[in-house]
Order: sequence, then structure tokens, then C-alpha cells
Amino acid sequence: MKVAIVGCGHVGLVTGAAFAEIGHHVVGYDSDRAKLEMLGRGESPFYEPGLDELIARHHGANLTFRDNIADALQGAVAAFICVGTPSRPDGRLSLTYVEQATRDITRATDGPLVIVEKSTVPVHTAQRILAVLREEGKFPAIEVATNPEFLREGSAVRDMLQPDRIVVGIAGNGETESVLRELYSPILEQTGCEFIVTDLETAEMIKHASNSFLAMKVSYINAVARLCEKVGANVDAVVRGMSLDPRIGPHHLFPGVGYGGSCFPKDVANFIAQAEEFGVDLSFLDAVRRINSEQREVLVAKVKHALWNLEGKMIGVWGIAFKPGTDDLREAPAIDVIRAMEAEGARVRAYDPAAGPVAKAELPRTEIVADAQTAIEGADALVVMTEWPEFRDADLSRVRETMRRPVVVDGRNIWPVETMAELGFTYYSFGRPDVAAGEIRKTTG
Ligand code: NAD
Repeated sequence: MKVAIVGCGHVGLVTGAAFAEIGHHVVGYDSDRAKLEMLGRGESPFYEPGLDELIARHHGANLTFRDNIADALQGAVAAFICVGTPSRPDGRLSLTYVEQATRDITRATDGPLVIVEKSTVPVHTAQRILAVLREEGKFPAIEVATNPEFLREGSAVRDMLQPDRIVVGIAGNGETESVLRELYSPILEQTGCEFIVTDLETAEMIKHASNSFLAMKVSYINAVARLCEKVGANVDAVVRGMSLDPRIGPHHLFPGVGYGGSCFPKDVANFIAQAEEFGVDLSFLDAVRRINSEQREVLVAKVKHALWNLEGKMIGVWGIAFKPGTDDLREAPAIDVIRAMEAEGARVRAYDPAAGPVAKAELPRTEIVADAQTAIEGADALVVMTEWPEFRDADLSRVRETMRRPVVVDGRNIWPVETMAELGFTYYSFGRPDVAAGEIRKTTG
């Protein structure tokens, strides 16, 4: 089947490459010329594990790119809108790019075509797309469907090819459902994952309800971690004790510096704003947001507690990306934390396995280095911001020898407290006992 992708960013490019992998003919279009040029050369504009291999395998054959939307739509059965939906100051999502993409598609073709809304959008956006189709006299030759995306950066290729579920919202036409079912059929056959068909609003709601719930789990356990520190409990054991209850489960209960990225912060804000518009109180999600942003301040406070004054101190930072497996810096906690430590007078040397080069523009005062060891040479403290596997697996004895002072503030709880104590570190993490010069101390009061 021939598929057009409109907006070739993290979602669009991975979606397109995965569709090419399962045998479809994919043509990508993006309004960003520089991005299109890179894609035209077969290069990915961002880092995502497994993506380069898919592009190399299909580029120029099943996966091509055009700088003209009408060419991209030629013969396509479906056009996936994968453009950005950034946050506005009032928390609502900006839908300017979605409208632009809708109008560009509608003007460039008479159909038959299904416009598939894959960007994360507020409920009722598909109805607005439908209104444009009617206004332009293109409905029902052009139909609309919603197909929210649940991929996670860092495992996006796997998530696209082996999804937990595929959600499709349709406006009552069985043919639209058939097009989407057929497009996804290789994945459905291979994985047996559920294909959930709903109306347009319900599919849009599933995405928001899911993301806000996940964000809530993160802030919930972070609040519990704070209380653990006050009462002298250990959050690791609390999480273990909770997660064996199948009603709770082990996922997304990782205490630390909190979530970032291009989705949770903006999607939670949007969910609150949209509920408010309809007179429904989701203000408990305000606490989720507040707790999450406070975690960054809590981490900086731990660094100050560890080092007393930051003025003139050298701090090595491991990890800048908002999570492992990506070079995405959108809403990355490390950016705020590094800026705050620099504002206090610290010199920061940072390393990230993927995001180093892109971080230079965001962090002009920070020395970005090419390996983990260099980041901590002569450092007064190491601050862990992203749980990349190479940090988890680091030779901690060597770390201790390299640093000027063996002080570690761990924003992701990646090492056992006992190990850090045995090695003689001073070690601060989230919701667990502190280690002061190799001695484990319950943090009460
Ligand atoms: P992105 O910024 O990486 O990519 C968006 C792309 O759309 C850019 O390349 C931009 O140039 C292009 N674009 C903007 N307007 C256009 C237009 N009118 N025509 C053609 N191209 C246009 O964004 P992303 O991370 O891929 O996110 C896209 C959407 O998917 C957002 O709504 C996001 O919330 C949602 N989403 C993202 C993720 C994720 O992990 N990144 C996961 C699920 C859902």
C-alpha cells in the first residue's frame, strides 16, 4: 500500500520507516527543507536506536522523500499527520501545524484518501479536520481517522513494530477501518496485538488518559520518595512491595529527578486545560506537574547539601538527554539542573552518549566532553541525570579514583546504596538512605 507521512520528526520518520519495513511504499514530506535534505541523503536528523538500519534498508526504494506535498500524496491510500503540537503558555496545545498540514493535504489532492491524525491532539481535533474537509468540498472522498501514537523515544522502532495495542478512531465509515486494518495487518499478524476501534473522540481521549496516568505514576512515587526520606524508609523496598500487587505493577515507578521530554509535560498541561474548558476538575494533575518540576530543585538542593558552596566547584554531569536512547533535549531535567548549578557559580563538564553535540547550543557555558571519564576528572561531584546503561555499568572504583572528591548525586537511583557505601562514596539519591563518606545514614526528619 502507498502511504504518505506529513511531518518527518520523531514520530513521522519512525512510523514511515516501520511501514516501509512491513512492505508498504512510504513517501515522506516535511515543511523543514533542511530536514528533508538530510532525509533525502538517507540520514536521520536525530538519534533513535535501530532507525538508521531501517532507513539504510529502505531508503530510495520503499522509503522516499519529496519536497512537494502533492507528489508525496500521489497514489497514497492514507496520509499520516505527524507534525508537532507544542504547548502554548496557557497549557493548551498549538494546533497551527495540524491545521496547516490538513489544509495542505486537502488542497493537494481530491482523494480517495484517509487523513490519519497521529499527532497528539486535544479531543475534537479530528472533528475540526473533518470540518475543513467539508469546507473544501473534499468529504467523503477524503476521510479522517485518528491513530494516536504510543511509541517511546529510545525504543521507538521496537514500539512501532511490536506495539502493545493499536488504537484507531473512525467516523463511522467501515472502509476507513479496513484501510487502517490492512496497513497494520503485518504487525497484527506477527504480534497478535489488539486493534482497538473506537469513535474519533474516544481514540483521542485514550492517548491523553494514558499519558497523564503515566506522568501521575512518576510524580506519585517521587512524592512517596520524599516522604521516605523524612521518615527513614527506603523507597526501593517500598516500590518492590507495591509492584508485586498486580493491580499496581512494576512499571513507571522509578523515583528520581522526574520526567521530561516532548510529551508528558505538554500532554498533562493540555489534559488539565481541556478538562477545565468542559468544566471537569482534573486539578489533581496540577500536583503531578508541580511535584515533577520541584524534583529538579530537590536535586540541586542535594548537590548544595553535598558540596556546601557551588562557587568554584567542578561538577561532572552524566547524561543530558531526557531519557536514555535518545538525543532529545526537549524539557530535559538536565538542562534546568545544569543551568541552576552554573547560576550558583559551579563549573560543569557534561557527557551524554548521544545528546552531547545537540546540547552545545542549549548550554553555552557548559563544557561538553566526549566520554564519561573526562567529565569527572578532578570533579568535586558527579551528578547523574540520565540512566544510560553505560553509566549503570561504570567501573565505580575507577570513578572514585578519577574524581577529586568521591561525591555522587544520583538523579536516577542507578546504583545500590550498599555498593556506594562499600566503595567509600558520599552518595545522595531519591527516597533512600544517604551515604556519608562510606557510612549509610537514614535520613529522618
Ligand atoms: P517533531 O518536532 O520531532 O516532528 C514534527 C515534524 O513536523 C517536524 O519535522 C516539522 O518540521 C514538521 N512539520 C511541522 N509542520 C508541518 C507541516 N505543516 N507540514 C509538514 N511538516 C510539518 O515532533 P514529534 O516528536 O515527532 O511529535 C509529533 C507529534 O507526535 C506531537 O503531537 C507529539 O506530541 C506526538 N507524539 C510524540 C511522541 C514522541 O515520543 N516524540 C510520542 C507519541 C506522540
